[in-house]
Parts: sequence; structure tokens; C-alpha cells
Amino acid sequence: MSLNIEKIRSMFPVLHQEVHGRPLIYFDNAATTQKPKSVIDALSRYYEFDNANIHRGAHALADRATRYFENTRESIRDFINAREEAEIIFTKGTTESINLVAATFGRKFIHKGDEILISTMEHHSNIVPWQMLCEEKEAILKVIPITEEGEIIWESFLQLLTEKTKLVSIVHASNALGTINPIKNIVAKAHEVGAKVLIDGAQSTSHLDINVQELDCDFLAFSAHKLYGPTGLGVLYGKREVLEIMPPYQGGGEMIKEVSFENTTFNEIPFKFEAGTPNIGDVIAFKKSLDFIKEIGKSDIKSHEDDLLQYAANGLNEIKGFIPVGTAKEKVSVISFNIQGMHPFDVGMMLDAKGIAVRTGHHCTQPLMQRFGLEGTVRASFAVYNSKSEIDQLVESVARIAKIKNK
Ligand code: PMP
Repeated sequence: MSLNIEKIRSMFPVLHQEVHGRPLIYFDNAATTQKPKSVIDALSRYYEFDNANIHRGAHALADRATRYFENTRESIRDFINAREEAEIIFTKGTTESINLVAATFGRKFIHKGDEILISTMEHHSNIVPWQMLCEEKEAILKVIPITEEGEIIWESFLQLLTEKTKLVSIVHASNALGTINPIKNIVAKAHEVGAKVLIDGAQSTSHLDINVQELDCDFLAFSAHKLYGPTGLGVLYGKREVLEIMPPYQGGGEMIKEVSFENTTFNEIPFKFEAGTPNIGDVIAFKKSLDFIKEIGKSDIKSHEDDLLQYAANGLNEIKGFIPVGTAKEKVSVISFNIQGMHPFDVGMMLDAKGIAVRTGHHCTQPLMQRFGLEGTVRASFAVYNSKSEIDQLVESVARIAKIKNK
């Protein structure tokens, strides 16, 4: 079924503006997606009518805010098909979700000489927390190499995976290349040696159908702002049996059962991991993002984005001097590239002058850029509200820019 893109676009106020005298073409969706009006309205409605602290209040507003807040948790459970709402923990974002696992699971279960396995294409937020943990614990961080196309080398993964591996933490879809990793097989293999698996779902959750029970992953981390939702909000999914044996993350209100100066007992999951007043308004508004995605349907979103990706790749590949970076067989709608003889930043500036927003640089994946011997790339990433006519303009502008150095 083909989507009514004009109708979808009409739901996103930010898209209807000019930049440098040109209609905005927003192709920086892997950095953050735009928000539908329903999300923006839900946020202001919360502050206009419902604002109250949750879980403890004995009054109508507190009850209402608590109900709306917990409704979002149920929507997230449904969105990733978790068994129960208790497995859904609210965080600030993917970064905090990964840090939470490093600080709790990592501190308790990773010991001297243990190994943690990541891949070459990880975002810094799935590298640095493990480096910090490994330094503290004298554990070892190992890295799965990737091919020239930007796919993990399966044989190397199998070789690196041993009885010493306690955790495999891997990105589902690369923000810099678009590569979709074979997560289900990775989880199955990791479990054979008794390792737990964390999936960085920052980029995959907006494009792919995610079913944590089918994947059988132990953790899934993602951010609301890449899912048409608010910034500063994320999710950590964890299997109940793993969350229950993990110590709390931060200490404070909400995460306790009883406190005395002699002894404190901790709350049940997920509250054990949610110290302090959470980001109530954004959590409540996030439900509208999930409703928006559900209404369109993940499979229609995916086929529209696949279509855009193919269409853009066909056009761009024709351009003399166009160098794609990352040509994996399975990709989400991300195109990373360089133009022969030009700095990615300059290409980005020239596209911006045409109203086209892309990302340039290392995309928080410096080791990946080093793997390709690059300083950075230009990245165009597509979302459900993008159209083929916008891609025509990207291709036309890139062709004109490439001509400067590639006559
Ligand atoms: N992992 C990946 C693959 C990402 O793309 C991002 C965001 N660029 C992150 C992790 C970090 O997400 P956040 O900044 O929302 O915590």
C-alpha cells in the first residue's frame, strides 16, 4: 500500500517552513526525527491541565498524570512486544540506557578477565561505557571487525565469542552506514556461550518491527526522539529475570520500598531503576508518537523508506565523484557518502544553502570512520514524511556540487 505522504506531512508543523529561502528538506532523521502535532499538543495539554507528580499523589491530577504515564509504558510494551510492563524502564535516552546496564549489570556481573564484545560500527555511546567498565574491572573489550561493505564478519564474531564473553552489546542498525545486523542470530549464538545481549535499537526501532520475545535479547536500548517523540527520553527494556538480579542504578525517591538509616529496601522493577521524578510530560506525549507509528503501520513505513532508499541510491550512484560509504545488503534508510575531492562539511554547507538538512562528520562513530580511513561522511537519512520529489532535489544538488571537482 502506498502512503499518503502529503497527509502525513501535514501532521508535522516544522516541515512547513523555508530555510535560506528554500522549502526545508529534512534529511537528518537519524540524528532526530520531527514531531507530529499530536505529540506537541499532548505535551502542552499535560502542562495546561494535568501537571502533577506521579505514583504518590492522593488527588485527581496525580491520579490522571499517573494513569497517562503508565499508559505510555503499556504502549511501549506493546510496541516491542515485551512480556510485561515491568520490563520497561524509562531513561533519558539510549545513552543512559546503556550506561544503566554498564553501571548495574556490568558492575555486578563483569569481573577481571571477562570479555565484552561490541562491533566496529558502534556509536560512541555503545563503546565508551564499556571502556570505562573494563578499566574499572580489568575486563577486556573485544571488537567484531566489519567488511568493506560495512557488514560484520560472521566468522570473526564466532571466533571472538568464547566462554569468557559475558556480554555482547551491538547496534541493530548503524546510524552511520545504515547496516542492519543479523541480531536474532547474534543473540542465539551469544546465548550458547552464556553471554547476555544488549541491542542498541536507537536506529532500528523507527524503521523495523521489533519483537523482543522473538529476538530473545536480554536488553534493548532506544530513544524517543528518534521515534517521532520528545528529546531527553529513552527506554531500557530488560528481561525480568535479568533486571531482578541487577542492583539499582541511582538512589533516591521512587526506587525504594522502605528507608531507615540502618537499612533500605528497594522497590519492584521497573521502579527500582527509576529514582526521582521522571520526565512525566515527555513520557505522556511519547504515547502519541507510538500511536502515530501504529496508525501508519511499521510495514508500510518500512516499504516507503526502502523505496526512498533505493530511489536515492539509484540517483546518487550515477553521479561522477559520488562515493558511497556502507553498501550492506540489509539497510535502513541511511545513505552515507563522500564527494571525491571535497570535505564532507563543505558538501553539507552547500546542501544547507539549498534548504537540504543532512548530517556531516563522524556521526559519533570515530572508530568506524578510522576503519574506512575517513574523517567523516555526509549522511542523508529518510523518515516516513520524506518524498521522492525531495530526493530528486537532493540528487540534483549533489550532482551540481560534485561537478565542481569532478568535471
Ligand atoms: N546509538 C545509536 C546507533 C545512535 O544513532 C544514537 C544517537 N545518534 C545513540 C546510540 C545515542 O542516542 P541518544 O543520544 O538519544 O542517547
